[in-house]
This record gives sequence, structure tokens and C-alpha cells, in this order.
Amino acid sequence: MPVKNRFSEMLPEITEWRHDLHENPEILFDTVRTASVVEEKLKAFGCDEVVTGLGRTGVVGVIKGKSNGSGKVIGLRADMDALPILEKTGVDYASKTPGAMHACGHDGHTAMLLGAAKYLSETRNFDGTVVVIFQPAEEGGGGGKEMCDDGMMERFGIQEVYGMHNWPGIPTGQFAIRPGGFFASTDQFEITVVGQGGHAAQPNRTVDPIVTASTMVSALQSIASRNADPIQQIVVSVCSIESSSKAFNVIPDSVTVRGTIRTMSKETRELAETRLKAIATSTCEAFGARADINWIPGYPTMVNSEEQTEFAASVASSVAGACDVAEVTMGGEDFAYMLEERPGAYILVGNGDSANVHTPEYNFNDEAIPAGCSWWAGIVEQRMPAA
Ligand SMILES: [Zn+2]
Ligand SMILES: [Zn+2]
Repeated sequence: MPVKNRFSEMLPEITEWRHDLHENPEILFDTVRTASVVEEKLKAFGCDEVVTGLGRTGVVGVIKGKSNGSGKVIGLRADMDALPILEKTGVDYASKTPGAMHACGHDGHTAMLLGAAKYLSETRNFDGTVVVIFQPAEEGGGGGKEMCDDGMMERFGIQEVYGMHNWPGIPTGQFAIRPGGFFASTDQFEITVVGQGGHAAQPNRTVDPIVTASTMVSALQSIASRNADPIQQIVVSVCSIESSSKAFNVIPDSVTVRGTIRTMSKETRELAETRLKAIATSTCEAFGARADINWIPGYPTMVNSEEQTEFAASVASSVAGACDVAEVTMGGEDFAYMLEERPGAYILVGNGDSANVHTPEYNFNDEAIPAGCSWWAGIVEQRMPAA
């Protein structure tokens, strides 16, 4: 099964949808127009059920196969939100909203999943049920988490989930994937070391937060070098140290230390949080100071399940002739929340030699549409073959 002919036929139509979405970008949870476009189309395609308002502005469509002997339910997920960037592509369908832009290609993701939904509604050539998921707020808002928190997986009985992102630098319509940790967790921390300030010449009458914080910053590096499994990837970066005083002769009352921890597994992530809190608390205690710790959870590590990754790669190979092994990326991805709830896989589809995502020159490559849609359809038809 190479690229499905049906998607080559549908390319002008899907491209038109994509350009309309591109012209009308919406940020985070404000994907009101986009969600209504998606809802309208899913209803027009004849989806068996269309539900809105999950994760605030998320939309879900249910498509039943010709039969349901397998009892399987597969979730396919696309993201809908744009970025706060001023577009500089110069295309004639450029953003009509200054300062908002589809600079990550989520317009392409939404259009491709709509294309697949139309095809699957027409053909129903599978034994089971498909749930198409359109989420808001991938770019930092945790829209995927909110859809999960609204009980999406249980409500629709989803057993496996699949996701896709376009990737500049991979040849157009080619695929790459990897099992296990794929996108990093992106947690942040802010530790305020509270001491007792005073005259620089009388340190004995103070609890010096500067000396305490310095020792703590050095000790935090032992999370990566002494606590984490050396095979596991982890980055502990302290990025800011701010004293409550700027004077040359005053020991400050407090020092605030900020940074980020990136990991590629749930275990390492949990270990890092536990160790950071223990090191901060006990170092401060040892110096007579106090640590006020603010742990700011980011997206969890996105972990592809082994079996589903292998299957997703085989579908990609059937579409594109081959599927590469992707590099780990230290960026975050909200689909991680769905993969925490259900087994599944996330794949990259080539956007060709384009500008990078999150830049004003970037644009989704419409030539990737037939391959992307064929992969979606292949996931369904090969995982739940018609009886
Ligand atoms: Zn992005
Ligand atoms: Zn993205």
C-alpha cells in the first residue's frame, strides 16, 4: 500500500482546508473557529458521533467500521493551535491575524486528520472503531492533558493512540520514529533560599543565603552525575541566581535559584524531582537556612510504546517504502499525556527542506498530505483489518 490514490484525488480539497486554517490561526485554548470548522466537517462526513467541548475547545469524532468483531478502539490525534508569531512567509493565504501564525504546522495536522476522517467515513473498511481527536493548546497549554482529564479515554473506550508531527529536514512524505523516550520532559524549578541578612563584615551574625545557594547549586549537579542511571539521558541546568541585594557590602536575606530539568523517562523524571527537593531542603538546613521550593511541572517525557511503534513504522514503510529511526529531541510534546494513559506511538512525517518550526518563515508542506493521510488510514485498516 503506497500513498492511497484517494488521497491524491483529495489533495486539492485538503489543501484548501489547510490554507483556510492557516489564514485563521488561533492560539492555545482559543481555537473556537478551528473547532467549529472541524465539528462541521466531521458531521458532514457522517461521523457516528461528534463531541465538542472536551479540554475546553477540543473536538472528538467517532467512526465505526463495517463490523466490530474486534472490539478495538483506536484514537488518532491532531493538534489545532497556532503560535504568537508574526508571519513572514509571504504566501497569499498568510495569517489574517497579526501576531498569530501556524508556525508549527498544526494547520497541516488538522487538515490531514480531517482528510483521513473523510476517507474512513466513506469507506469504513475496518473492523472496529476509530476516534479522531482534535486538541487545542499543544504549545504550552496542556490541551491534551485537559482532554484526558475530561475522561476522554474512558468515555470513548480508546485502547491505543497515535499522533503525528511534520518535521523540517526529513524528506517530504518520508517518516521517522523511535521507540521509548522520544520527546523530553520539561519541568522547571524555582528555589528561594531564605537566610538572615546583615553586614558583610559580620557574617557570624547572619545566615548567608549566597554561600548556601552556591553549595546547593553544586550539589544539584550530583543528580545527573551520581543519582541518575548513566544510561539514561538527563539535563540539570541552573539558569538564574538572583540575590535580594545588589550591594557590595550586604549579605542578602534571600537568593532565588531557577532552572530546568529535562529527562527521557518517567523514572528519571521522578528521581530528579525527589533528589532536587531533598538536596535543596537538606543543604539549606545544614547552613541554618530554609528552602522554599516551587516545582513547576512541564510536559512529561513522551514515551512511544514498543509494539505500537513497530506497527506504526511498518505502516509508514508501506506508505513511503521505508521508515527511519528518529533522533531523540529535548523539546516537549503534549501528546505525552495521552501516551501516559494508553499505549501508542508518535511519528514524524517529513516537511522537506523548509524553514524550521517556530520561525516566521516556516510553512507546512502540502505535498506531505497524501503520505500523512495514508499513514492515518493505514493505522486503522492494518490494525483492524476488515472482517
Ligand atoms: Zn510547536
Ligand atoms: Zn507542533
